[in-house]
Amino acid sequence: MTRPTVATVHLDALEHNLRRVCALVHAGASLSGPGSGARPKVIAVVKANAYGHGAAPVALALEAAGADLFACADLEEGVTLREAGVTRPILIFGALSVSDLGYLFSHQLTPTVSTPSAARAIEAAAATRGAVIGCHLKVDTGMNRLGFRHDNLTRTVPEVLAMLHVRVEAIYTHFATADQPESPWLEEQRQRFDRATAALGALGIRGVQRHAANSAALLRDARTWYDAVRPGLLLYGVVPPPLAAADLDLRPALSLSSRIVAVKGVRAGEGTSYGLSWQNDQPRTIAIVPAGYADGLDTRLAGRGHVLLRGRRRSIVGAVCMDMIMVDVTGEDVSPGDEVVLIGRQGDEEISAREIASVIGTIPWEVVCRLGSRIGRIYVNEAMRQ
Ligand SMILES: *Cc1c(COP(=O)(O)O)cnc(C)c1O
Repeated sequence: MTRPTVATVHLDALEHNLRRVCALVHAGASLSGPGSGARPKVIAVVKANAYGHGAAPVALALEAAGADLFACADLEEGVTLREAGVTRPILIFGALSVSDLGYLFSHQLTPTVSTPSAARAIEAAAATRGAVIGCHLKVDTGMNRLGFRHDNLTRTVPEVLAMLHVRVEAIYTHFATADQPESPWLEEQRQRFDRATAALGALGIRGVQRHAANSAALLRDARTWYDAVRPGLLLYGVVPPPLAAADLDLRPALSLSSRIVAVKGVRAGEGTSYGLSWQNDQPRTIAIVPAGYADGLDTRLAGRGHVLLRGRRRSIVGAVCMDMIMVDVTGEDVSPGDEVVLIGRQGDEEISAREIASVIGTIPWEVVCRLGSRIGRIYVNEAMRQ
């Protein structure tokens, strides 16, 4: 049994997007300023079930296509990746709860160290096991989320460096406004990170990898590339708004489709769906599509969003229900079973995650991440069929 609403994940598109990002940062490595001259590595960000695309198949495809490292939000996600067979290093971005630290060792995960107390807990867990664990030290350069404050490092970091079982392999920071070209903070944070690097060098952290750039920073400023970049959204084929990256030629990795389950005439003066708010003085024809807010469709799509049907855009009308939406198909000869595209391409038309985000007033990350667990994911690789 399969429900008609399915997300198709195009593994070939993920691989293509990774290669395009690699080509950009490798070709432009000289732009990133003086450094070792080495090519920046790519840390593929696959947190939140790979932005809703499915962590295991996505990570395996990206590993095969050359991702150097992976990053995810917490230990559970890291364990999922390891158990799926990922062999490359896996960085955990988030703060770790003390009770779970055994997974760092059993599944060879790389923690982020953001506070002295977190470092102490990891040191103790490593010492118990007679292990030395590599970690990435996070510097907070202005986001005020996780990380050692950039202006306080000489007081907070020496304790970590004195630890015998914790080894700092890399240092990193995260930008708060990389997708806001008008904000001065990207540049400010970048300069703070450079000064933090110098301060940490004076404390003895030298020759370690540095990374900072999410998708937006990576597109905007080659000086943020350092030794590795950390794209998420770009790998899934979505450019962070308001930025443009036509040259990069990315391909959306996910499409979402369904099938009409019923077609119905609505008479003049009648409405449809909860509240009956969509009313007309002319008779209309509506199609019922079995996908609703429980599948991750936003309720704000009512009266604003579109689907593709027979290659044309059609309006979502009436309230979005838990399991269904209604689409105005007046004048179109449609039948139950016809394909409906909610995200993706049909004929010459396309509805992107970025378009949906802009229609409902949110960000494209949210549109893809919230796709419901009820939706089946189908993995295809067009490249392998040829
Ligand atoms: C999510 C995340 C990224 C990737 O962000 P995108 O905008 O999707 O490229 C990079 N670094 C950190 C620390 C993150 O949390």
